[in-house]
Amino acid sequence: MLTTIYQKQDLKKSKVKKHIETVFQQGGLVVFPTETVYGIGADATNKKAVEKIFEAKGRPSDNPLIVHLSHRNDLVLYVKNIPDIAYTLIDQFWPGPLTLIFEKNDTIPYEVTGGLDTVAVRIPDHGVALDVIHISKRPICAPSANVSGKPSSTLFEHVVQDFEGKVDIIINGGKTKIGLESTVLDISLPIPTILRPGAITQKMIELALNTGIIDGSEVDVTHIPKSPGMKYTHYKPKGNLYLVDGKM
Ligand code: AMP
Ligand code: MG
Repeated sequence: MLTTIYQKQDLKKSKVKKHIETVFQQGGLVVFPTETVYGIGADATNKKAVEKIFEAKGRPSDNPLIVHLSHRNDLVLYVKNIPDIAYTLIDQFWPGPLTLIFEKNDTIPYEVTGGLDTVAVRIPDHGVALDVIHISKRPICAPSANVSGKPSSTLFEHVVQDFEGKVDIIINGGKTKIGLESTVLDISLPIPTILRPGAITQKMIELALNTGIIDGSEVDVTHIPKSPGMKYTHYKPKGNLYLVDGKM
């Protein structure tokens, strides 16, 4: 497959916008930067497109994807039952690295959610990501642009190495700001529960909600994981780690 590479300033050109929109419309893949890591994006309403993400990453199909939106008003199009606390969290943390879990509606296929009736949603805090999602006119599922089990990519050069020839478009947005994945918070449960720790901490969420929440990421993952992704490693660098114990 021929991969087209664009620079972030190319997004201003109408020809480039049209190309991006057409690729998503036809079920293709676009790699773009977010504030956390680079994402590999597809139309979240198109099963075939979603399957291509799993193929390109070598990701197990029961590890669900996060749906990215460019505007909070779009949330109602894809989820059922938005609890009041969602709006408190959205006011405070969106756009940003907080992913919220809601009950999904029928627009989102089970291929996105790994067979679950819930869906993970966030709005990224990055101009390029927001432009790409807006241009697509669709909800975009965009897991980290790395081969499954490897560290998530924060550099354009790394995503080119891993995905040139496997995706339709790669957009160069330089180095990503945070380099750590989004916090995943399940607000479909009676007590909000962190399923994956990330850039937004438990303290920050508790302060915003003015109440305690549960850190579910500390449960024993050898039993049933609360979040399907918890049974997979997320940060697994290739290098060896040495601990040196000696006098200072
Ligand atoms: P990423 O690898 O950045 O795409 O993040 C996806 C992660 O979000 C998954 O591995 C899960 O841990 C979590 N996740 C996504 N959707 C759901 C869901 N419906 N329920 C629980 N956790 C989810
Ligand atoms: Mg990942």
